Amino acid sequence: MVETALEETTNHIPNVLREINKNYAYTSKILAELYAEKLADGYQVDKLLLELQSKQRAIGVKQIGLVDSCNGLYLDTLGRVLQLDISSARDQWVQEFIDGQADYRYALYDPDELEYESLYSFYYDHKIKDDHGKTIGILGIGLNYEDLYQRIQGLDNNIDISFLNLDGDIRLPKNNKGKSVFSLYPNLSKQQFDLIEQQDQILWSNGNRENYLVYFHYLADINRILLLKMDNTDYYNNSRKQYFVSFLIGLALIFTVAILNLFYIFYQNKRLNKSAFYDLLTGCYNRNYLENRIKLRPFWRQLTQAQCSMLVFDIDHFKHVNDSFGHLEGDKMLKQVASVVRNCLRESDHFIRWGGDEFLVLIEMPLQESMAIANRIQLRVEQETSVTLSLGITDITSNDSFQTAMKRADSALYEAKDKGRNQVRVCCKTL
Ligand code: GH3
Ligand code: MG
Repeated sequence: MVETALEETTNHIPNVLREINKNYAYTSKILAELYAEKLADGYQVDKLLLELQSKQRAIGVKQIGLVDSCNGLYLDTLGRVLQLDISSARDQWVQEFIDGQADYRYALYDPDELEYESLYSFYYDHKIKDDHGKTIGILGIGLNYEDLYQRIQGLDNNIDISFLNLDGDIRLPKNNKGKSVFSLYPNLSKQQFDLIEQQDQILWSNGNRENYLVYFHYLADINRILLLKMDNTDYYNNSRKQYFVSFLIGLALIFTVAILNLFYIFYQNKRLNKSAFYDLLTGCYNRNYLENRIKLRPFWRQLTQAQCSMLVFDIDHFKHVNDSFGHLEGDKMLKQVASVVRNCLRESDHFIRWGGDEFLVLIEMPLQESMAIANRIQLRVEQETSVTLSLGITDITSNDSFQTAMKRADSALYEAKDKGRNQVRVCCKTL
C-alpha cells in the first residue's frame, strides 16, 4: 500500500517534468516565430526590451532572452543589452546551439559564475529563423528552480527535488550544490548509480524515526539525474497507528467472541445438567436426580432435620391401560397423572418418577399435613382421570437413611395395594 502510493508519485513526477518541458518548448517556439519578423525587419531596442518584459510577465517566467545574431546583440528582460562575443567562453552556448542541428534545446543551467546564478536554473531555447530558413537569432525562456519545484511539490509536500550531474554531484538546489549523492545516501552503490541511465533506482530507508524513499531518474533531455527524496515518516507512522488500532479491534473482537463462547458453554452445560435430572415424559425429576441429589449425604441430612415425609405411589392396574388402549395412551395417562399430582404439591416438594408407573414425593412437611396432601392426591386422581392410585406414606426421622424411609413407604404402598388399591396407607415410625 505504502509502496504503491510512493511509486505512483515517483512515476508521476517525471511526467510532470516532461509536461512542463513540452509547454515551454512550445512557448519558446511561438515567441521565436513572433520575433523572427522583427529581427528580419529591424527594431528599436528600447521598444523590444519593453515588449520582452511584458511577455515575461504574461507567461510568468523568470527571464526571456533574445539573441540577435545578425547584430551581435543579446537582450533580456532585466533590461540588459549585451554585445555578443561568441569567441568568449561566456557566449560559447550561443555558438554551440546555432551550429547544432536541433531547433530547440532544454538545459539545466548551472554556471559557476555567481553573477549568473540568480538569473535562472533552466532554459528553453528556440532558434529564430528567417524566411529562407537561416538562423538569425535565439529566443530563450529562463525558469528558476523554485518555480519548477513548486509545480512538482504541489503533488506531495514531503518531496525534496534535486538535480545531479552524472558523477553524482548535486547541481540544484543551490544550498546542496556540490554535495555528493554517495555521502547523502551511503547505501547507494556506485554500480547502482551507473545503471540509472538505463533504469530508475529506488532506495528505501527505514530508520526508527525516519522513513524515506529516494528515487533516481535519468532525464535524457538535459543529461542530468533527477533525485526525489520522499519523507514518508508521517505516512508510515500513521499506517503503523492504523495497524495497531486494527490489531486492538481484532483483539477486542476475539475477546468478545471468547467471552460469548464461555457464556454459551456455561449456559449449555446448565441446560444439559438440568435435562439430565428430568424425566422427558412427565416433566418430573428422574432417578438420576434421586441418586445424585437426594441421596447425597448433606442434602439427605438436611431433609431428615426438616420434618419431611416420603410418599410413594403407583398407578393401579396400569398394565390394563396399556393393554386396552396402547402404549401411547398409557404415556398420555402417565403425563396426566403427573400433572394432577403436581397441582397438589408445592414448588419446594421433590416429585420424582421412580420408574414405570411408580413415583416418589418428598414433601417438606410433617406427616399430618403430608397425609392430607396424599389424600387429596388420591381423590383428585380418582376424580380427574380414569385411573386410581395406591399410596404409601411415612415420616422421615433424623435417624433415617434413604433406604430405611423408603422401606417403610414401600410397605405402606404394598398394604394399600393389598387392601384393595385406590387408598393411602401410612407406615409411621414416630407414631
Ligand atoms: P398394579 O395395580 O399392581 O400396580 O398393576 P399394574 O398393572 O399397574 O402393574 P405394574 O405397576 O407392575 O406395571 C406397570 C406397567 O407400566 C408395566 C409397564 O408395561 C408399564 N409401563 C412402565 N413404564 C411405562 C411407560 O413409560 N409408558 C407406558 N405406556 N407404560 C409403561
Ligand atoms: Mg401399577
